[in-house]
Amino acid sequence: MYKDVHKNKVIHNFVHNMLTTNICSENKQGVIPQPSSPNPVRTNSLLRRKAQHMLNNQEDERLTYTDEDWMRLAIAEAKKAEAIGEVPIGAIIVRGHEIVGRGYNLRESTLDSTAHAEMIAIREASGQLQAWRLLDCTLYVTLEPCPMCAGALVQSRVPRVVYGTRDPKAGCGGTLMNLLQEPRFNHRADVVEGVLQEECAELLTSFFRRLRNKS
Ligand SMILES: [Zn+2]
Repeated sequence: MYKDVHKNKVIHNFVHNMLTTNICSENKQGVIPQPSSPNPVRTNSLLRRKAQHMLNNQEDERLTYTDEDWMRLAIAEAKKAEAIGEVPIGAIIVRGHEIVGRGYNLRESTLDSTAHAEMIAIREASGQLQAWRLLDCTLYVTLEPCPMCAGALVQSRVPRVVYGTRDPKAGCGGTLMNLLQEPRFNHRADVVEGVLQEECAELLTSFFRRLRNKS
């Protein structure tokens, strides 16, 4: 189990991300929030409650969860990769209202080309569900899956894949090819792309920008 400190940090990031996407992104374009904008204090506490419920895997019928909500948690995973100098890519696997797997890119730290966020999340979910078939699950990942991860998603029968931003160099969820929906395979997933696209892309572009500036 994750420690409370860690959980609080994730909740803080979740609320921060939610508020910055909803409010600050408008400010960047010079748009002043309208008086009808939700009260930030109220929004903040609602989001905090929502994040707490999501992370504690508690179902609350009064709260509805959107793909954006879950993607924010995948972004929180990506930020863990970023914090240790890894390319920031994160993934979570959700069944119902429960997070059953999570992962972030660990390729450099583990010197393992297969240590992609999705692979780690798939392994964790299989362990948690005690099944290699990840039925009724949705995988959220910040970057479009590569051929390996798309293959693993097909193998694990994940029925729904949601990704943030396209990968023009390796994307196999529709960009270079679409292994997730290949009619000749025995399994196809529903695919949703572009959820919090700008935020997911910005994570990567700012990471590589910083890397270039260092060298
Ligand atoms: Zn991959």
